[in-house]
Amino acid sequence: MMAKDPVKYALLLEQVYRGESVTCPECKEAGLQHHFYASRKDRTGFAQFHCPHCDTDAHLCRVKFPDGVLTEDI
Ligand SMILES: [Zn+2]
Repeated sequence: MMAKDPVKYALLLEQVYRGESVTCPECKEAGLQHHFYASRKDRTGFAQFHCPHCDTDAHLCRVKFPDGVLTEDI
């Protein structure tokens, strides 16, 4: 299912950037998975989160990733 409140995931981005593991905002279980996709040109793209415990997906668009954050090219 899709997350009803993607803002909760946007608040986790800073933690993920620091390399911390984050807990799912829905079920509070550890191990929330993320994938970051960004253009090499301006480091802007989108983030996807998936929780393997409660099977929730979240999508954040128009994210500007800081330098040094690992992203896949789009
Ligand atoms: Zn969950």
